[in-house]
Amino acid sequence: MSTTEPTLDGIDLENDVFAERIPHETFALLRREAPVHWYDWKGGTGFWCVTKHADLVAVHKDTETFSSETGATALEDLDEEQIAARKSMLDMDPPRHDELRGLIAERRSALETHGLASDVAGDEADRAFGRVCDTIENDLLDLHLAEMARIEAARARAAEGHYGLCADCGEPIPLGRLQAHPTALRCAECQARREKLFAAAF
Ligand SMILES: [Zn+2]
Repeated sequence: MSTTEPTLDGIDLENDVFAERIPHETFALLRREAPVHWYDWKGGTGFWCVTKHADLVAVHKDTETFSSETGATALEDLDEEQIAARKSMLDMDPPRHDELRGLIAERRSALETHGLASDVAGDEADRAFGRVCDTIENDLLDLHLAEMARIEAARARAAEGHYGLCADCGEPIPLGRLQAHPTALRCAECQARREKLFAAAF
């Protein structure tokens, strides 16, 4: 049976374990008996398993010791090229991370203050071109803002202890979906149902 109580020696954190659900009883065991635990991962070098909330907060805040820029946001051992290819705001340390956040926030409030109108002077064609550029830039900005909002919301759910649980049905969101969409709020079924409901309302 797969429901036997886990022991520290037999801890299994391979991907397959997460395919169906998050193994909460394994994390409870770790928090109880080995809150900082080295795991010899089959897929690579391995990793430290930090399972207590206060320790996690300390690790996240100490970006000098625990960098997000050196591939630590992935379990796999990444080479330089792979690290460069997956650079997103999640894979950045301060000050770059905070600078980007600041830039986006600044730009956002400027847009809100002045509206979305282009300042481009000149003839009608120039103005039209300026508007297209503004639109593209604003679309990109909106994507960043939406991503940031989703990350903040996911962080809040993690702090409250229900990250990875579907907001609608309460069931664990399968790991495959969380890997593709780490900030997913719902399981695929509930998300599809919700989108259908919204579509029907218009
Ligand atoms: Zn669901």
